[in-house]
Amino acid sequence: LAQHYLDRIAASNLNAFLDVEPELSLAQARAADERIAQGTAGVLTGVPIAHKDIFVTRGWRSTASSKMLGNYVSPFDATVVEKFNAAGMVTLGKLNCDEFAMGGSNENSAFGAVKNPWDQQAVPGGSSGGSAAAVAARLAPGATGTDTGGSIRQPAAFCGITGIKPTYGRVSRFGMIAFASSLDQGGPMAQTAEDCALLLNEMTGFDERDSTSLTPEQGNVREDFGRDLAKPLNGLRIGVPKEYFGEGLAADVEAAVRAALEQFVKLGATLVDISLPRTSLSIPTYYIIAPAEASSNLSRFDGVRYGFRAPEYKDLQDMYKKTRAEGFGPEVQRRIMVGTYVLCHGYYDAYYVQAQKIRRMIADDFQAAFRDQCDVIMGPVAPSVAWDLGAKSNDPVANYLADIFTLSTSLAGLPGMSIPVGFGQGEKNANRPVGLQIIGNYFAEAKLLNIAHQYQ
Ligand code: GLN
Repeated sequence: LAQHYLDRIAASNLNAFLDVEPELSLAQARAADERIAQGTAGVLTGVPIAHKDIFVTRGWRSTASSKMLGNYVSPFDATVVEKFNAAGMVTLGKLNCDEFAMGGSNENSAFGAVKNPWDQQAVPGGSSGGSAAAVAARLAPGATGTDTGGSIRQPAAFCGITGIKPTYGRVSRFGMIAFASSLDQGGPMAQTAEDCALLLNEMTGFDERDSTSLTPEQGNVREDFGRDLAKPLNGLRIGVPKEYFGEGLAADVEAAVRAALEQFVKLGATLVDISLPRTSLSIPTYYIIAPAEASSNLSRFDGVRYGFRAPEYKDLQDMYKKTRAEGFGPEVQRRIMVGTYVLCHGYYDAYYVQAQKIRRMIADDFQAAFRDQCDVIMGPVAPSVAWDLGAKSNDPVANYLADIFTLSTSLAGLPGMSIPVGFGQGEKNANRPVGLQIIGNYFAEAKLLNIAHQYQ
């Protein structure tokens, strides 16, 4: 099985993988065979998986798709990687993404864009674009992703696969190269909700090495996320936020999403009109908080502790400056500058503190909806299908605006998933997938997977 996928990876031209080490994969595969022969195998033993290059791995390079970490090899495994290794899974390699997970098209990678396997003119989405493309093109049966503001859900939507961002704090961030620590959350990407459930079973759990990991007392206990897959949806109340269907939503995406909602009605659910009034504020709020945290997290890349150092410099200050100017790409530099600015004395209250207040209000809006009106919320993942490679690559604001439907969920720390529900329309979009977003209350992962599975 591992050899089958390694052959497919070698033959593909999507630029989805950044590092493949067949000897290491095959050694894991042989160890899995032995476990199977000895009768000590678990459900995932011998199943191949590939990791977004945000998760550090022993043996494979860990670059975060940045020149800054171009040749970096971690001395330890991320907790998520460690758990999958312990389950006997076979690592196929490391997957391309936007640099430090900053972006929504994978074009911010220092190692080149990934192509969308459905249409090679199109972006795969991002930042987990390599993960989504690899699963869609059957280069891996499953992959890890990280979602800070949509980076599991949006590439899953653009590549027609299934992905879930769990409740913030359920999956350890230890060894996940940090972007915005209060938002970053790992999760699985696969063909189906059933496959995501199997992967999530191994991924979650308290980790004392992550200071924001949810504890068992807080509810972060091991559970079988697939336990409710077969449950009928009779009586399910689906909130449909009007702000997710307004101006700016492409007609073809709306048509596919509305058709999926009708399918849920046939499955026994009812649709409830709801309002999430601060949806549009999620963009300025997120693009203050995420860069602020990023500017702090990325201060560690100083040319001394990790990876790249500029080859020529006068003194220590000059070494820092040149290392960071040469090592970080333009989007990462932009965010460090924005983040440093909003944290400055004198601006901190006007920007950062204000953003934190709105963040709380956004979370409260979701709680009001879940308390009074609905069990889950559904809407589009993104305002359009995947756009053309290059179409927005020089326009950061256009990229930020396309995150409108995924950012609120992240700011609130809620679980959200994307499932494939059809394709765009017209000559250009007919082969570009549409994703439906399903958002649940805290710890509702099993319910989201149940709903997705009933549709699938
Ligand atoms: N597109 C968003 C950004 O650029 C989200 C990225 C993410 O979730 N990692 O920040």
